[in-house]
Amino acid sequence: MDVFHFEEIVKSERLSRRHIDHIGRLTGESSCPKCGSPKSRKTEEGHQRKCSECGYKYRLYSGRWFGEVNLPARTWLWIVKLFEMELTSTRIAEETEVIYPTVLKATATIRKAIAASTDHGLEILMNGGRNRKIPVFHYADEANEQAGLIPLPEKHIHLLERLGCGHLICTDKSITYNSLECGGVTHHVVDSGKGFPHFRTYLAYPKGVWARIKEQLRKYHSVKDKNLPLYILEMEFRINNRDSGLFEKLVESLCRSIPRELRPSGTNTSAPTGRPTTVRA
Ligand SMILES: [Zn+2]
Repeated sequence: MDVFHFEEIVKSERLSRRHIDHIGRLTGESSCPKCGSPKSRKTEEGHQRKCSECGYKYRLYSGRWFGEVNLPARTWLWIVKLFEMELTSTRIAEETEVIYPTVLKATATIRKAIAASTDHGLEILMNGGRNRKIPVFHYADEANEQAGLIPLPEKHIHLLERLGCGHLICTDKSITYNSLECGGVTHHVVDSGKGFPHFRTYLAYPKGVWARIKEQLRKYHSVKDKNLPLYILEMEFRINNRDSGLFEKLVESLCRSIPRELRPSGTNTSAPTGRPTTVRA
């Protein structure tokens, strides 16, 4: 979406809300969070909808990623736009005048929504960073591949997550191999820079893609290791959608329902009030 079109949709809170509502409908995600019926009508009180099937009243954001952070629609769209433009959370906070912890929560929500848009990303969200028991191998002799593969003991593996292309493998520093094999694919060690002093990272992406990921990660200074898979999924998403409207894809992901497995048990799906309590006066 170009800036002129964007300017139109953020002209007012009403237009921003309408845009999110519209995308929600296109993605089939404006249905009732209780019974799933797509039929609803606006209530007289204002922004709520009432399900025509079960009568449940819900807000636009109910049960969706957008509802995870209590922000007006217009502010949310600005945060998404600035995130698309690869600004850090600190810069986004400055530009939107939203307090930093709230921006941090919003950008973390965007990354989770991105992750939830793919099967392997969803696996990462549900996995909670625990090691997956997939065998990882190293060459007995790296100079002579014919010498065969040997399993890498699990105790050396810090993170092991499935990605769109191979896996993300983080090992402790005692592992010095240039490549590892996992799922029949060769993963090459990548220089993860100063931000990751405690482990070595292996990826199966082509070199150019990793170079881009590395450049991007440098901007974020030291990404916590448990967050590394989400940052890599974000890069994957940016690369896959670079020609097809990244902003729209981000809004679409945020409009989607949070998978039931990821909702804390016992919480209902009622949405926040949308009061701009987190915006600086
Ligand atoms: Zn319903």
